[in-house]
Amino acid sequence: MLNIVLFGPPGAGKGTQSEMLIKEFNLVHLSTGDLLRNEISEKTSLGLKAKELMDSGMLVPDNVVIGMIESRLKNNIKSKGFIFDGFPRTSEQAIALDQLLDGNKQSISSMISLKVDDNELIRRLLERGKDSGRADDQSSEIIANRIKEYNNKTAPLKLYYSKQDKLKEISGLGTISEINDRINQVINKL
Ligand code: ADP
Repeated sequence: MLNIVLFGPPGAGKGTQSEMLIKEFNLVHLSTGDLLRNEISEKTSLGLKAKELMDSGMLVPDNVVIGMIESRLKNNIKSKGFIFDGFPRTSEQAIALDQLLDGNKQSISSMISLKVDDNELIRRLLERGKDSGRADDQSSEIIANRIKEYNNKTAPLKLYYSKQDKLKEISGLGTISEINDRINQVINKL
């Protein structure tokens, strides 16, 4: 199995690149952000609880996202592998993911981390906010909160994967296809 953690701050391009990679490598896309937005649009109790946190740019509780990932892993046990997009975002999530994969005798193949500076992230997210309608893309204040959550809780995961010798950092600047080429180069060497 090819199991890739596609990593980076909000606005780095994880979702866009994931969409290309799932087709190129025949993988299943697991985006906790998308899964949570589905729960919100279906007005489930989980979605209602998550909405307030998401709209203010805070992370939702670990047990919520870990539970969602666990059920999707079980349902796709026969796939060629997964792209994890926006998950894990805390060390608890990373440890849980390793344990879940280990239970199926699987592991993470690589963490590919997209590097983009803060000014460019803010520019991209405000731009996306104009037509995405996403509440968390509407104001500089909420975006700053998300970047703060990323720096405090999520960025340290680079150390977690580099200790396992799995971290690959690439530039997330340039055209969509240039970035796709960089990611492909990493995957093809695995
Ligand atoms: P972005 O990468 O642009 O921030 P996402 O769709 O990945 O967008 O996430 C949107 C929001 O969903 C996050 O700000 C957070 O509130 C919530 N979320 C998504 N994934 C996780 C996760 N793994 N852990 C906690 N919260 C999450």
